[in-house]
This record gives sequence, C-alpha cells and structure tokens, in this order.
Amino acid sequence: MESHKAHRDSQHLTFPCTSCGECCKHITHIEALSDFDMGNGICKFLDMHTNQCLIYETRPEICKIDTMYENYFRATYTKKRFYTLNANACNLMQEKANIHSQYRVHIQ
Ligand code: SF4
Repeated sequence: MESHKAHRDSQHLTFPCTSCGECCKHITHIEALSDFDMGNGICKFLDMHTNQCLIYETRPEICKIDTMYENYFRATYTKKRFYTLNANACNLMQEKANIHSQYRVHIQ
C-alpha cells in the first residue's frame, strides 16, 4: 500500500509516454475508436512519419491514460499500478514491433 506521502506525490505524476506510436497502431478491438481505424488497426490520425497524433488536443478520452485513470480506474488501482500495467502493454507492443529499447516505458 502506498504511504500518504507516496500517494500525495503520485497525484502529480503523468504517464511517461515515449511517443513510440505503437498503441495508435493497435486499435482494432477498441470499440470507441472503431471510426478511427483505417481497416488495418492503425488510427487514421496517426502521422506515420513523426508518430505524432494529428488531433492530439481533441483526441478521444480513451487515448488519454491519465484521464482514464482519474475517471474510471482510480477506485481500482493505485496510479503506479495502473501506469505499470499500461507500461507493460506499451513495452510488449514495442518488443513485438522491434522498436528500439530507448522507447521502453519505465515507471519509477
Ligand atoms: S504505446 Fe505507450 S509509449 Fe508508445 S505511444 Fe502509446 S502510450 Fe506512448
């Protein structure tokens, strides 16, 4: 269990996304993003050259890890646990896609 200090500190954390773009290339089974899928599991708003989201400021809630935590997972997980689960998924996708290890997400 988190100490009070650790809990207080974690409230200001944001997910340390490394912008590898892999989650944006695996949206096939995400119902909320069905209209975004180009038919190959890749989001139509992903710039394939820069790996940047073309609608970042107005992207759907499901694309925002911190917002999803606050709105839906806060009662179930500590933020660190939620981040770790997400980071594991990021890193697994990266490994499968042979993305350079410098993009791995590390949760302190
Ligand atoms: S897979 Fe993870 S590290 Fe890569 S862009 Fe998505 S959230 Fe960021």
